[in-house]
Amino acid sequence: MVLDTLGGSLRSALRKIASATRIDKPLVDEAVKEIQRALLQADVNVKLVMTLSNRIRDRALDEKPPAGMNPREHVINIVYQELINLVGKSSDVKLERQTIMLVGLQGSGKTTTAAKLATYFQRKGLRTAVICADTFRAGAYDQLKALCEKQGIFFYGEKGNTDAPAVAKRGLEAAKKYDVRIVDTAGRHALEADLIQEMEDIHAVVNADQKLLVMDAALGQQASDQARAFHDAVQITGVIITKLDGTAKGGGAMSAVAETKTSVAFIGVGETPSDLEKFEADRFISRLLGMGDIKTLIEKAQEIQADEEMDVESMMRGKFTLKDMYKQMEAMNKLGPLKQIMQMLPMGGLGLELSDKEYQATKDRLDKYRVVMDSMTDAELEDPKLITAARVKRISRGSGTPPELVKELLKSHQAMQKAIKGMRGGMGKMNMKRLMKKMGPAAGKM
Ligand code: GDP
Ligand code: MG
Repeated sequence: MVLDTLGGSLRSALRKIASATRIDKPLVDEAVKEIQRALLQADVNVKLVMTLSNRIRDRALDEKPPAGMNPREHVINIVYQELINLVGKSSDVKLERQTIMLVGLQGSGKTTTAAKLATYFQRKGLRTAVICADTFRAGAYDQLKALCEKQGIFFYGEKGNTDAPAVAKRGLEAAKKYDVRIVDTAGRHALEADLIQEMEDIHAVVNADQKLLVMDAALGQQASDQARAFHDAVQITGVIITKLDGTAKGGGAMSAVAETKTSVAFIGVGETPSDLEKFEADRFISRLLGMGDIKTLIEKAQEIQADEEMDVESMMRGKFTLKDMYKQMEAMNKLGPLKQIMQMLPMGGLGLELSDKEYQATKDRLDKYRVVMDSMTDAELEDPKLITAARVKRISRGSGTPPELVKELLKSHQAMQKAIKGMRGGMGKMNMKRLMKKMGPAAGKM
C-alpha cells in the first residue's frame, strides 16, 4: 500500500486515543508526539508538522465534541480533519475539453504520466491526444509514441526537431478535434535556467488550462524549491505525485503542494498506464489511516450503537422475543465488516472483534435462522413458549430445515433470555455487545 509505514504509525497513534479511558492533556500530548514523529519520518516539512500538531492539540483539548460523538471519536475526527488539511484540498481537473501541460524534472515520470492521463480520460469517454514537446532528450519521442500506440491514443511528435514551442503549437493544431490534449515536455536533471525558460516559451504558445507539475514522491525537502520555481514560471494549477508505490517518504512532495497553495490532482502508483489515481484528500487520508471511508464507518457504528441501546432498554422492561434475538444477532453481524474501525472506536475496547471465520459462521447461522423464523407465526415469534413439539415439526417441515435447527434456535433464545434475566437489575443501561459476548457460548455456536 501507498505510504505503508506512515499509515502504520498514524494508526498506532489513533488506536491509543481510541482505547484511552479518558482524553486529557498527557494523552493528547503523547498522541501528538507520535503523529509528529510519523510525519517527520515521511519527510513532511517541519513547519507544517508543527502547525498541524498545535492545531490538533488545541482543538482536542478545547473543542467540545458535537452531539452524538464521544470524546475519543471527536479527537480521532480532529486528527483526520487536520491531516486532510495538511494534504490540501483535492484538485479540480474536470472531465471536460481541455489542454494539459506537464512539467517537471527529468525522471519525475512526466512521459509515463502523459500516457496514464490519456488512458484515464479516454476511459472516461473523452477523446484524448498526446503531444511530445520533449525535444531535449533523445528517445523521448519513441518512448511516448510507443506508450500511446499501445493504448490506442493519438500521438503527435516531430522526431529530430528541437524547437519545442513550435512542435507543441503544430501538435495542438493537429489534435484540434480531440477533447483532451496533453502536452509532454522535457526536463533536466536539476532546476536549470534554460529549463525554466523553455517551459515559459512552451507555456506561451500552449496556453494550457491545466499546468500540472509532475513530482517524484521520493523527492523529499527539495520538492518545495522545485514547486516554487515551476510555479513562478508557468503558474502550476496542480501536482501529480508519482512513484507513491515505491517510497516510505512522499511527505516532502505533499508539503511542497501545501506550500505553493496548489493541490494534488493525481497520484502515480505504478508503472503501467492504469496506475494513476485521481487524488481525493479525504479518501487518501482515510486509506492511509486504514479506515476505508472513516466518515461512513463512524456514522454506521453510531447508528448501530443507538439501535442497541434502545433495544436493551425495551428488553430491560421485560420481553425478549425471537425477533429481538434476531435483531441483536443481525446488529452484531453488521459490525463484522467494520472490524478495522472497531479496533479504533470504544467498542473495540470491549474486545469484541469477530474474525472473518466467526463472521461468516454467524452470517450462515443468521441466514438459516431467518428461514426457520419465516415459517413461524407472529404469535410464535413474540412468544416462543407457544412452540410445542408438534409446532417444531410443522416449522421444520414448512421451512425445509431439520427439526434440530428449530430446536437449536429455541435453545439459543432461551439461553439469551436467561442471561438477560440474570443481568437485569443493578446494571441500568448496558451495552448489548457486552451482553452478547458474555453469553456467546450459550447463544449457540455464534
Ligand atoms: P520523465 O523523464 O519525467 O518523462 O519520466 P518517465 O515518465 O520517463 O519516468 C521515469 C521512470 O519512472 C520510468 O522508469 C517510469 O516507469 C517510472 N515511473 C513513472 N511513474 C511511476 C510510478 O507511479 N510508479 C513507479 N513505480 N514508477 C514510475
Ligand atoms: Mg519524459
